[in-house]
Amino acid sequence: MRPARVTFLGTGTSHGVPMIGCTCAVCRSTDPHDRRLRPSIYLALDGGPALLVDTATDLRQQALTHALTRLDAVIYTHSHADHVMGLDELRRFNVLMQGPLPLYADAATAAELQRVFRYAFAPPAQLGGGVPQLDLREIRGPFTAAGVRVVPVPLLHGRLPILGYRFGRFAYLTDCSAIPEASFELLHGLDVLVIDALRHRPHPTHFTLAEASAAAARIGAGRTYFTHICHDLPHAATNATLPPGLALAHDGLVVDVDVDLDTASGAAPAADGGAA
Ligand SMILES: [Zn+2]
Ligand SMILES: [Zn+2]
Ligand SMILES: [Zn+2]
Repeated sequence: MRPARVTFLGTGTSHGVPMIGCTCAVCRSTDPHDRRLRPSIYLALDGGPALLVDTATDLRQQALTHALTRLDAVIYTHSHADHVMGLDELRRFNVLMQGPLPLYADAATAAELQRVFRYAFAPPAQLGGGVPQLDLREIRGPFTAAGVRVVPVPLLHGRLPILGYRFGRFAYLTDCSAIPEASFELLHGLDVLVIDALRHRPHPTHFTLAEASAAAARIGAGRTYFTHICHDLPHAATNATLPPGLALAHDGLVVDVDVDLDTASGAAPAADGGAA
């Protein structure tokens, strides 16, 4: 186990909060906790590698806000627009990291990334502003990304099978409306769980807050944070209704977790911050 720090880059649903043109109380709120960019997390070890889960639409703004300068790998949950549309911003990390960036995705997501971002995977003859340099790797089970052990956790997002991820004693389960029985088996002994909770009203492809709370109770992590939140849930008022150990996440929230490193493969990163 090694300590790592998770930064919530975005905790909003696909439209973000505020939504364009909406005048509801949450969209007009002056509480910064009610401003939610598209969903993504950044997981970094002290002086070691840093992983991004998804390249959200707001990646450029997120990277600037949090002064991100290091990125060793990107792990995709699925190919919906809010989770992939920041891919072009990876160009800056190619420069900062001086090389291609490994991307991890399941077969369906990898195929969609190659279709949607064809220019990045089949570069044109003339490179104007440049294209991202990417090394797309297909996930077929637990894997090591930049020295960090990652366990895929199959989820159902409506009828779409997607992946959540477990890193040591931390798991990130965005965009889900059901957790298969076999996946609960992968979620024992967590210190911190992050799980989708869109709103109170039922939705075909996302957990409601009550459904997410029930799943969280079954999983039994030390602390649970909800993400992928729409404008129906005011941050402070909603958190006031939740029992201890459960809370809405918010953009910029930082949580300390313990992750597993792959020491056996020799892929463990140097502590000096050098690229592995
Ligand atoms: Zn989403
Ligand atoms: Zn609104
Ligand atoms: Zn989705």
